[in-house]
Amino acid sequence: MTVVVFARQELQCLQELARTETVESCAVGFVAPAGVDRFVVRGLFPVEASSYFQRAGARATLRPEACLAAANEARRLGLGVLLAHTHVGGMPAQFSRIDDEGEKLLLEYFGARVPERRHFATVVSTDGVTTRALGGA
Ligand SMILES: [Zn+2]
Repeated sequence: MTVVVFARQELQCLQELARTETVESCAVGFVAPAGVDRFVVRGLFPVEASSYFQRAGARATLRPEACLAAANEARRLGLGVLLAHTHVGGMPAQFSRIDDEGEKLLLEYFGARVPERRHFATVVSTDGVTTRALGGA
């Protein structure tokens, strides 16, 4: 089983956003291998307001510039990318069909620009967290 470890504070920050915002929030972090099938997330921070292309209650997407910046930083660090977003309004921390669709494109994008690294997706609710390989299970 793959284990992905978060910094508690970074996670709590996203849970707070899930609780207080009415629209989804996105965050980008970087993933370092830490043993067999074990990964540690570093620097998981919400993106700037200007990074959103679309931001609604059940969908949020980032501008191409924001994705490119994340890919470039991951390459510089030699790490994988973790894309997190919140589910608001009491929605559970479960990947939606919208998430499934969006991640296919994101996997293509990050897989091409940051090859040979594992990339992940995380969804955060007020009291839950679910992480999977980017692009779905
Ligand atoms: Zn979602």
